[in-house]
Amino acid sequence: MDMNQLYSDIILEHNQNQSNKHELNPHTLQEHGHNPSCGDDITLQADIENGIVKNAAYTGHGCAISQASADMMIDLIKGKSVKEALRLIDLFLAMIKREETDDDKLEDLEDAISLKNISNMPARVKCAVLAWHTLKDALEEGK
Ligand code: ZN
Repeated sequence: MDMNQLYSDIILEHNQNQSNKHELNPHTLQEHGHNPSCGDDITLQADIENGIVKNAAYTGHGCAISQASADMMIDLIKGKSVKEALRLIDLFLAMIKREETDDDKLEDLEDAISLKNISNMPARVKCAVLAWHTLKDALEEGK
């Protein structure tokens, strides 16, 4: 199977299911993110307990890439420590900036590796990184 086709299927699947798109209560942090170049607008909520991301969810609206990316990110960080979540966020951002291209390392990103080729589409990069930057800001503020 062609990797590009596989990647678009994963993005499509997350965009259709959006299992993490809902209000989360209780939550210990909330952060709003906006991408004016596309109109993507999301609010992330997370329930952090003893340094672990117990649960997380998002609400809002935007293009397929921004929504799929938020959904993938939440699948990835749920149940992880805040420290590990921040490491994965930085790994994702490094992948998009092409600072990290080693597929063995990028496998840690699970489904989010499917957004790797977004770096070839500069107009969509801000859509892909919106949720990740928003969560990073929230986690770093909460420290
Ligand atoms: Zn967008």
